[in-house]
Amino acid sequence: MNAKGYSERDEKRILEVLGRGLLKEFPNPERAGCPGSDVLKRIAAHEMPLAEAGKWLDHLTSCSPCYGDFSHFQAAHQHRRTRTLLAIAASIFIVICLAGWAFFLKPKESIVTQTAVLDLRNRSIPRGAEPNPAEPPLEVNRAATSWNIYLPLGSSEGPFDVRIVRPSGESLVTARGTAKISDGLTSLVVAVNLSSARSGQFILQIRKTDSEWNSYPVLLR
Ligand SMILES: [Zn+2]
Repeated sequence: MNAKGYSERDEKRILEVLGRGLLKEFPNPERAGCPGSDVLKRIAAHEMPLAEAGKWLDHLTSCSPCYGDFSHFQAAHQHRRTRTLLAIAASIFIVICLAGWAFFLKPKESIVTQTAVLDLRNRSIPRGAEPNPAEPPLEVNRAATSWNIYLPLGSSEGPFDVRIVRPSGESLVTARGTAKISDGLTSLVVAVNLSSARSGQFILQIRKTDSEWNSYPVLLR
């Protein structure tokens, strides 16, 4: 029920009855004083300002052919509008699908970038807790949660300890993993969490469990 006391359905029926009357009651075969289909089209498509359209409303409600044309243009306009709305809805749907696709794809990408490769294959094997000062530091992103360490050529398989220490000697992270040989490459994968560490120079220490530490300079980015 609306403010006038009758429902939208009642209102529609009244307009339909009035419209049926308008379509018949005012024949105007000569189309005397008719504004022409262009004006009717613009009114039907709401393209004409109301101030301009106002002067034609009297004619529209007292000329059956014009009212008929107007109803026809209005129906066509509504059909086009519905089609436009459907097209908009379809593009919104496509955008949502693309966003969803990107959202579900992204975690996979970040898993890939969270693995850091540290290549020690061509590094000399340093002995002791101090890294060789001539070696350039390995660079690792702190966001990486998995380090895939390619051990120096000739390294054997088995359990390894890994730790990252500050230049002062204080240990930041310790990890343990098992080195495996594949195609002549000894690689060691360890899980590390450096999310709370600051960027800077550190020392990566690796040892075969119960052996001596080997040290390499590392730059956390
Ligand atoms: Zn007319």
